[in-house]
Amino acid sequence: MQNQKLVFQDLTRDELEGVLLEVLKQQSSSYVRHSDGAIVNVELSDESIERLRKKAKYQAKQIYQWFYQRFVFDFELMSDLAKNLRTWLKENVEVYHLDEKFSQQALDGTHKFLWTLFDGKTIESVIIPAALKEKKFEEAFAAKVSGPGKAESASAEKTVVTPNPRQVSPSEFAGKESDSELDGDDWARLTVCISSQVGCAMACKFCLTGIQGLDRHLKTHEIVAQVWKLRSTAPITNIVFMGMGEPLHNYDAVVKACKIMLDQNGMSFSKRKITVSTSGLVPAIRELGKAVDISLAISLNASTDEQRSQIMPVNKRWPLAELMKACREYPLGSHRRITFEYVMLKDFNDSVQDAARVAELLRGIPSKINLIPFNEHPGSEFHRPSDEQVKKFQRYLLDRNLTTTVRISRGRDILAACGQLRSIFGSARGTEKHKDVQYSEQQ
Ligand code: SAH
Ligand code: SF4
Repeated sequence: MQNQKLVFQDLTRDELEGVLLEVLKQQSSSYVRHSDGAIVNVELSDESIERLRKKAKYQAKQIYQWFYQRFVFDFELMSDLAKNLRTWLKENVEVYHLDEKFSQQALDGTHKFLWTLFDGKTIESVIIPAALKEKKFEEAFAAKVSGPGKAESASAEKTVVTPNPRQVSPSEFAGKESDSELDGDDWARLTVCISSQVGCAMACKFCLTGIQGLDRHLKTHEIVAQVWKLRSTAPITNIVFMGMGEPLHNYDAVVKACKIMLDQNGMSFSKRKITVSTSGLVPAIRELGKAVDISLAISLNASTDEQRSQIMPVNKRWPLAELMKACREYPLGSHRRITFEYVMLKDFNDSVQDAARVAELLRGIPSKINLIPFNEHPGSEFHRPSDEQVKKFQRYLLDRNLTTTVRISRGRDILAACGQLRSIFGSARGTEKHKDVQYSEQQ
């Protein structure tokens, strides 16, 4: 956004309250003319300021609820706000809308979105139902999560989105029963995977986004808008920062976005339902633990420093011992665990010896391990291990009482892996390499 207005989704509720308090103070101030002719502002009493503070707090709550819980984005339509407040908001605060460039649903229910930002750059979000099994083509499209309609685009300011996301069961978005590990709770999960940066600076060798490099950080409003937009049409239950970008490299914007997502009067997600995934920026992990109470995932991806440094340059700066120490010291609270993601690369990090070293590394850390068989992309030097090898690795860890799941490859038919859609349709560097992959806008 390039004007002077405040962007609504950049404001935590506390910040909004502060802004509204200033407005109320200005509106309540009175002036007297002294005998010498000077006009002087009469100071508000502490009592009056306290009264205004309460009012601002109440107003901030109201506005937050309208926007984040009822999905009304036109201030004019927030009917229980005073008329002059609505006018002030309209003149001074802008609501940010993402522009949908492309969306496509895979046969397994995974739904990928590509957004165009104000500067023409593109980012991705993906909706992932908990239960996935490839549906028949017609079935999948009948159940398709409808992408936000054109009528709701930025230009249609007067339109109120009136979905009823909470009245739709998340299981309606899922494929057929596919995974015996899912319990009742898991069935009701609809996760949105969001981006935190345009590209990524961390340069992990196996990752398409990493190969593309960093373009820029996302603003808080660009992060929040991904969840808001998708939640306005689908009953999103979980948020994972596992799309493009390294969230802890864009620390301030991500922490602020998390605060808005956690806010009881805002998006009201529980701390267990928001997960930030990081390649291992140790000082930021420590800060995060103090700043906001959410779940943490670490992209471990290797079992020794030598191996990890080969594929993740960040490991040279903060090697495994430091990373594991930060994990041990991360404030988890009761019954919570850190997720360790482990991308499995054929003949590189997928041996049983690797599994043994992983078990050793995680000793004493309440953890869950998520094995991700490498999602191959054109031009990558790595390969996906066989299912048998993945199972062997998993079995070794399970036998040592380590909770270990294998991530089902989701949305393979729409290239749902990190950075893949953008590399083809977006403005990413590296596009040249992938020109041979075709798509049809009619899908
Ligand atoms: N930057 C953060 C979050 C985004 S990446 C991080 O690295 O944690 C989300 C996950 O996707 C990471 O665990 C990463 O290791 C994994 N990943 C990236 N490219 C992949 C690929 N081609 N196949 C499988 N997993 C991949
Ligand atoms: Fe960045 Fe994560 Fe990809 Fe590494 S795996 S390049 S940190 S997005």
